[in-house]
Amino acid sequence: MAEPMHCYRHPKRETRVSCATCGRPICTECMVATDVGIKCPDDARLSRGARTGVMKTNQLLKSILASVGVAVAGIPIAYVLFLLPLTVFISAAAGYGAGTLINRAGGRNGGPVAIVISVLATAIPFLVLLAPDLLAGSFNLRPLIAMVLAVIAAGVANRQM
Ligand SMILES: [Zn+2]
Ligand SMILES: [Zn+2]
Repeated sequence: MAEPMHCYRHPKRETRVSCATCGRPICTECMVATDVGIKCPDDARLSRGARTGVMKTNQLLKSILASVGVAVAGIPIAYVLFLLPLTVFISAAAGYGAGTLINRAGGRNGGPVAIVISVLATAIPFLVLLAPDLLAGSFNLRPLIAMVLAVIAAGVANRQM
């Protein structure tokens, strides 16, 4: 018979169960039954996290890179938008496009992190263009509405399916 293992979280407890992901022994109290077998609490949490849109590090990096691209490319785009009619609607569409781009870069996970990154990336070009006005105390409603809609659209693009 195999040597009894000891739970990695409770070294004094003997067990014959080990985690399906990392192989560490776990006692009956620590084991978590998941769709893909018995897991340790750490890995059970991770696999639950993956289902709720937690990005892997490389996906997170790609999302951040995409968002930097969006923020930089967005400045001239937002500048042109402000000169066009229907700024508000085009901004919302552009925000949705930016959010989708970042969502794809992040492996289409969506979720809170992707939303925050997309919202920031979308807000930056608007803030850069609006800053002189805002600092000068002149308050122009239309570009502000355009920014809010673009930001919301970017967030919506990263909602979880
Ligand atoms: Zn494990
Ligand atoms: Zn244990």
